[in-house]
Amino acid sequence: MEIIDFHTHLVPANQLNPHMTEFFKETNPEFIVRVSDFDDPKVTVELFKNQGIKYAVVLAEEAPATTYNVPTEQVLEYCRGQDMLIPFASINPNSYPEPAKRLTEYVTEHGARGLKLLPSYQFYYLNEASLYSLFARAQELKIPVLIHIGSSMFKGTRMRYCDPMQLDDIAVDFPDLNIVMAHSGRGFWYDECFFLSRFHKNIYMELSGLPPKNLLDYFPELDKNGEKVIFGSDWPAIPRDISENIEAIKSLPLSDKTIEGILYKNAERILFG
Ligand SMILES: [Zn+2]
Repeated sequence: MEIIDFHTHLVPANQLNPHMTEFFKETNPEFIVRVSDFDDPKVTVELFKNQGIKYAVVLAEEAPATTYNVPTEQVLEYCRGQDMLIPFASINPNSYPEPAKRLTEYVTEHGARGLKLLPSYQFYYLNEASLYSLFARAQELKIPVLIHIGSSMFKGTRMRYCDPMQLDDIAVDFPDLNIVMAHSGRGFWYDECFFLSRFHKNIYMELSGLPPKNLLDYFPELDKNGEKVIFGSDWPAIPRDISENIEAIKSLPLSDKTIEGILYKNAERILFG
């Protein structure tokens, strides 16, 4: 079976905030040891191929106040010439007078294939005017928007900004924009995310950061939503190989169609039309 990983990061260790370095040393020491190996995209591509992955989305993260700053330019450069790596831009709309213009440049001139937003790390509500201009532009450019929706352990996070119910309006106001909820409400918004993704044709759930073995506890009717759920690993911030998570999803009591949808087809539709 072919696999698309919709959520991986480029995280050079020397670009982490000091409190994140401490956090990872405590929770996932392997991460700090190995992460610099993957500063070289060829090493990453090799690893992904060995895990059975055909394409991987690589996320920029412009969030120096909470996690780290890996600008879009760095991710675009990293993915250049590597067909399997799909770069997503990160734009903090608070930081630029014309964020939509910036998005256009990243997509039309430099090859970004999607936009990642981190409202709880970048501090804005999704219905602010600057956000609406970004959503309108993403819809015009026909790129998906991946939005961090869920709790985090990182210092400085302001979770109220990523309440998924905000997406109810965005989905209606931008009917041709594909909206993907990274982490699917991790912590306390599982029901909201499940409902929103069933109700709105353009809202999807993405599973990074959720232990596969618990998925049916969080989403007991997952099989009914098989066309709206997407696999993401959050590599390299996971304490094990990606293939273990892939195998764990394959072994869930779900239909073959749902599993194929989660691991490949739903992401393929969004990324390649
Ligand atoms: Zn992530």
